[in-house]
Amino acid sequence: MTITATAPRTARAAHAQRLPSTGMLADRFRRPLRDLRISLTDRCNFRCVYCMPRAVFGSDYAFLDRDELLSFDEIERIARVAAGHGVRKLRLTGGEPLLRRGVEDLIGRLAALRTPDGDRLEIALTTNGSALAVKAQALKDAGLDRLTVSIDSLDDELFQRMNDVRFPVSRVLDGIGAAHAAGIGPIKLNMVVKRGLNDGEIEAMAARFKGTPYTLRFIEYMDVGTSNGWELDEVVSAAEIVARIAALFPLEEIPAAVPGETARRWRYLDGGGEIGVISSVTNTFCGTCNRARISTEGKLFTCLFATEGHDLRALLRGGASDDELAAAMASIWGARDDRYSEERASLTPELRAARPRIEMSYIGG
Ligand code: SAM
Ligand code: SF4
Ligand code: SF4
Repeated sequence: MTITATAPRTARAAHAQRLPSTGMLADRFRRPLRDLRISLTDRCNFRCVYCMPRAVFGSDYAFLDRDELLSFDEIERIARVAAGHGVRKLRLTGGEPLLRRGVEDLIGRLAALRTPDGDRLEIALTTNGSALAVKAQALKDAGLDRLTVSIDSLDDELFQRMNDVRFPVSRVLDGIGAAHAAGIGPIKLNMVVKRGLNDGEIEAMAARFKGTPYTLRFIEYMDVGTSNGWELDEVVSAAEIVARIAALFPLEEIPAAVPGETARRWRYLDGGGEIGVISSVTNTFCGTCNRARISTEGKLFTCLFATEGHDLRALLRGGASDDELAAAMASIWGARDDRYSEERASLTPELRAARPRIEMSYIGG
C-alpha cells in the first residue's frame, strides 16, 4: 500500500491519536505501533563495507560511552510502556547486539513482559552471527523467539572482504547451525545485495539454503546513513533478484504472513521452502510501516531515515513516571508522518545527499 499524502503534515500533534476500531495508537497515516527495534550497542566487531566502512569507523571513531547507553532497567521500562501502546514484537539489534554483555539477561527480562491482554511479546534478534556458536543455547534458554542472521556471501574470500575484519563465513554457518540445534526458530538469513560486490552470489545463496530450515531474504542495498557512499545504480532490484532465482528454481508469490511485514514472500514450486525480498528502494512499504526504533542512547526514531530522534533517556533519567513516558511516546507516534522510502524517488541526488541521515549501526537495523 502506498501512502497518498492527504494527512496534515505541518504542525506536530500535541496529543495521541487512536484507531477507533481497536483503540490502538495511530500515526497521521493511521498506522499502528506494533514493532519496536532496540539498538543495544553502536559498536560492532565487523566493518561491513555497506554499513560501517573502515574509513569512517576507524580506530579513532568516537563510539558512545557506557553510561550513555540505555541500561537494561531503562530498556525494560520503555518496552513495558510500549507494550501498553500496542507493541507486540521487540527486535534487539545494533551495532552487534551480541557484543552487549548480559544480553541473555535482558532477553529474559523482556520475555517476562506481558501485553495488556496477558500475552508475551515476541522477542527477536538480528546478529552478524559471529558469537552465535557460543551464545545460541543461552539465548534460547532466556526466551529468544526469532533470530535473523546476516550473511552476504558463501564465498569466503568475498565474505571476508565484505566484513573487512577477515571473519570466515564457516564460523557464521556454524553459528546458524548452533542456533538451529538449540531450538531457536524461525531463523531468517539476511543477504544485502550490492551490485558489483556480491550480486554474483544470488543464485549460489538461493541454492545453498533452498530446502533448509532457514528462510533466506534478499535486501536491496539502502541509502541509510551517509558513510557508505550509496549510489542508486548499486541497487539490485527485488524484481531482478526474483527473476534470476526463478530462472533456476520456479517461484510463485505468496501472501504476507503478518500485516506490516517488510519482506515479500516467494515459494519454490518444488516445495523447497521460500525466500523473501525486501524492496526498500524499488517497491516501498511505508504504507504499512508499524516500526519504531530506540537508538543505543535512548532516542526514539519513528523512521529508519528520520533526521532526529526524541530523547526518552532524558525523560527516564529526569524522573518521568510511566504515565508521563507513555504520554510522550503516544504524542510522538501521533505526530508521525514519515514515509522516506516513498519520497526518495522524487528527490534529486543533490537533495537526497544533502538530507542528514543517521547511521544504521547507531539507530539499529
Ligand atoms: N550487526 C547485526 C547484523 O549485521 O545483523 C545487526 C545490525 S545490522 C545494522 C542489521 C541489518 O541491517 C543487517 O542485516 C545488515 O545487513 C543490514 N544493513 C546494514 N546496512 C545496510 C544497507 N546500507 N542497506 C541494507 N541493509 C543494510
Ligand atoms: Fe556490524 Fe551488522 Fe553493520 Fe555489519 S551490518 S557492520 S555486522 S552492524
Ligand atoms: Fe518505515 Fe521509514 Fe522505512 Fe518507510 S522509510 S518503511 S516509514 S522506516
